[in-house]
Amino acid sequence: MTTIFHKIIRREIPADIVFEDDHVIAFRDIAPQAPVHVLFVPKEDFATINDVPADAPEIIGRLAVSAARYAKEQGFAEDGYRIVMNCNAHGGQTVFQIHLHLLAGAALGRFGT
Ligand code: 5GP
Repeated sequence: MTTIFHKIIRREIPADIVFEDDHVIAFRDIAPQAPVHVLFVPKEDFATINDVPADAPEIIGRLAVSAARYAKEQGFAEDGYRIVMNCNAHGGQTVFQIHLHLLAGAALGRFGT
């Protein structure tokens, strides 16, 4: 399936890319929910976290480690941040290529419905 994020990976549409390596791309969310809101996306195709094989935890690990590294580089790691991945309808997922949200830059509210 081709999503908007696949088009960003292929440079078919623009995005404010803040990090990229062989496996991961990260870019600013178009509708930020915090002063810092960056999406970390694997280059491998997985619609949801349910589709990631149990023997491939590195797919998710790379996203989390990349987000933490970005937080340290940007200087807000000690103040803190949130990383979250939505899954399917009840999780509020809207783009079906897995992605980790990094939210930072202010004290964030607790989770809710
Ligand atoms: P989800 O709801 O699937 O967890 O998160 C999808 C995120 O992608 C949303 O926060 C939404 O604002 C963001 N988004 C949707 N379309 C675009 C786009 O074209 N460019 C960028 N940079 N972000 C997008």
